[in-house]
Amino acid sequence: MTQQMSRPVRVRFAPSPTGELHIGGLRTALINYLLAAKEGGVFLVRIEDTDRTRFVEGAMERQLYDLQWGGVAVAEGMLRNDSGAFVQTGDYGPYIQSKRLSIYQQHIQTLLDNGSAYHCFCTADRLSAMRAAQIARKEAPKYDRTCCALSAQDVAQKIAAGDPYVIRLKVPDGTTTFHDIVFGSVRVDNATIDDQILIKSDGFPTYHFAVVVDDYLMKISHVIRATEWLASTPKHVILYHALGWADAMPQFCHVAPILNKDKKKLSKREGGVSVKDFRDQGYPAAALVNFIILLGWNPKTTQEIFTMEELITQFDLAKLNRAGGIFDMDRLNWISRAHIKGMSIDTLYREGLPFLKKQEFFAHATADRTTEDYVKRVLTVEQDRLETYQQIGVYNQFFFTDDITVDKEMLRWKTNTDAQTCEALQRAYDVLSVLSEENWTRDGLEQILMEAAGERRGDFLWPLRTALTGEKKSPSPFDCAWVLGKDVTLQRLQRAQACF
Ligand code: GLU
Repeated sequence: MTQQMSRPVRVRFAPSPTGELHIGGLRTALINYLLAAKEGGVFLVRIEDTDRTRFVEGAMERQLYDLQWGGVAVAEGMLRNDSGAFVQTGDYGPYIQSKRLSIYQQHIQTLLDNGSAYHCFCTADRLSAMRAAQIARKEAPKYDRTCCALSAQDVAQKIAAGDPYVIRLKVPDGTTTFHDIVFGSVRVDNATIDDQILIKSDGFPTYHFAVVVDDYLMKISHVIRATEWLASTPKHVILYHALGWADAMPQFCHVAPILNKDKKKLSKREGGVSVKDFRDQGYPAAALVNFIILLGWNPKTTQEIFTMEELITQFDLAKLNRAGGIFDMDRLNWISRAHIKGMSIDTLYREGLPFLKKQEFFAHATADRTTEDYVKRVLTVEQDRLETYQQIGVYNQFFFTDDITVDKEMLRWKTNTDAQTCEALQRAYDVLSVLSEENWTRDGLEQILMEAAGERRGDFLWPLRTALTGEKKSPSPFDCAWVLGKDVTLQRLQRAQACF
């Protein structure tokens, strides 16, 4: 144990390219990354693509992009050069399991030679009959070791005859124990462990074999992954021993899943499950990262909003939760709002513009309403309330179109008369028409309009605000006037007056 503690931290995220990166996957990557960043270690990515039946073209590239988007910096394994090609890093690379078949072949030979693995020629039909019989006898299905009894000669003959085969682990008698950082001590009776297939009939290693060989060769100090793999870990521990690598065994750390409100696995119904879903909805990467890390890690302070730097400094594997984190959309929105609120306008503009450009109301806006300067004014006014980039402008479309509807009833404050409403609009016009361009600032407008409003604010500010927006709810009249500018503000006041 002490020897392990002093090992340099080398951790890995090992996605299988079977689809989009799930937010649970990003969280696993993040936990690995935070540990490496905090301890001055190395975070590497390895692509586990040995299950050819589940391989999805392009998924690897998309998952790597998602990691990068999430701010998880890969230090080794899957790095690209300037022209986008993956390059060798560390001792070798890129770390793509399907490109490392000869390495697994070499190590399976060690296991065959020392009697820890054997060839199995059983057909799929025989195996399913065996399994059905075991189930009928109320036994846990497990390979019955028929082929373990074959002599070396039998094996050689069958191979020479071209019989298809797999190679299985010969699980030794006894018990297997290991320590998990989150789940503590785990002890398993080996009699309950199946003789796991290590090499499939297509010559590819299974996950279980490749993961052990690669974690060893890549000098991984901590295996941090989803709890679904906790039950497989005893097989891996057996493999470390069988390969003579027990001294180099990494520490294991299994992280609880992200659950929905019914404590079930998060599904599409909750709105989104992949990193891409949330990116497309306009959540800032830092907000998603902040949200998902808190679903599995408890900082044990009252702080709720974290930057990546803060997460790195405060991260501690000992504070990972055992229970699954419950996904709560309201909390994500709250965290996201806090992140957007804390951004510079330049950042908000850069990140938000692509979303705004997709909005129909923006596409139809006149050129003077799509300039950087104008959009930044809208953002300044909206910033504190935005939960996503996708919301930019949506609730305040009057900033982008003159096609707004006002009528007497909307302009009227409470039970005021037409005359009182007209008077308020006229007074607003008079005050604003003499305000210089240079005083047309948020503060300048607030000051002059509050002075003009006097005691009876609603009487004065309500007609002004509705005249400018055509909405019952909107930012303050000062902010609306500031964004719209003097000309449009005066035009809209005149239009409102014409209702009477
Ligand atoms: N390829 C496995 C997965 O995608 C990784 C498991 C591990 O980290 O060992 O879940």
